[in-house]
Amino acid sequence: MSATDGGPATGGAGGAGLRPAPAGAPSETILTGARDALIVVDVQRDFCPGGSLPVPGGDEVIPVINRIVPFFGRWIYTRDWHPANHVSFSASPEYRDGSWPAHCVQGTPGADWCATLDIPMNAILVSKGDDPDRETYSGFRVERFDLAQFLKLRGVERVFITGLATEYCVRQTALDAGAAGFTVYLVEDAVRGISPEGSARALKEMEAAGVIRITSGQLQDSGERPAPAYDEHGNPVEHDD
Ligand SMILES: [Zn+2]
Repeated sequence: MSATDGGPATGGAGGAGLRPAPAGAPSETILTGARDALIVVDVQRDFCPGGSLPVPGGDEVIPVINRIVPFFGRWIYTRDWHPANHVSFSASPEYRDGSWPAHCVQGTPGADWCATLDIPMNAILVSKGDDPDRETYSGFRVERFDLAQFLKLRGVERVFITGLATEYCVRQTALDAGAAGFTVYLVEDAVRGISPEGSARALKEMEAAGVIRITSGQLQDSGERPAPAYDEHGNPVEHDD
């Protein structure tokens, strides 16, 4: 490799953040920066071991997420935030769409974020599923808050999806992000599913929809961060870019 051109010769980090990593290049380094957002889906106590609807190994995503949180300058944390009479709850749950045990009921310990999950102070928190009559797996389908528009207005072009559970809320979030026009990366070691078969199916479906499957080890921080939206007086800052 020549050092005279001021950058890595091939396959290196320089410029990799400017183009999407091709699918099928699983070892490529992906530089995170100003136009990226990390999305953390439903890392709540009820979805982790000991909760009312535990995802096997659900808590294993936490150290992976915590490690990559500092690589980003924007973060979206979604959570299930159900009323006690939510439509998806069943007294004799069949563990499928529309038939779950009660979980993540507003104000209960099970709805809390997992205690060891790092949440930056200026992360955006999106609650979903708070309408008793409506299931909402994705933070992009919340009626009072247009997440896609929020991200686009802030120059976000790529989103990196992590959290629980692969077949349901992670899957729907990734598909909705792609449909909204974002380049979508699924960080595979930072998600867990309810069943191996369901997870495998969901991963294939997401991939077919254009979601790029990566592992957290491919991520590297470019150090670029979004320009501040407000000055020290709380006034909006105009950026011409
Ligand atoms: Zn739910």
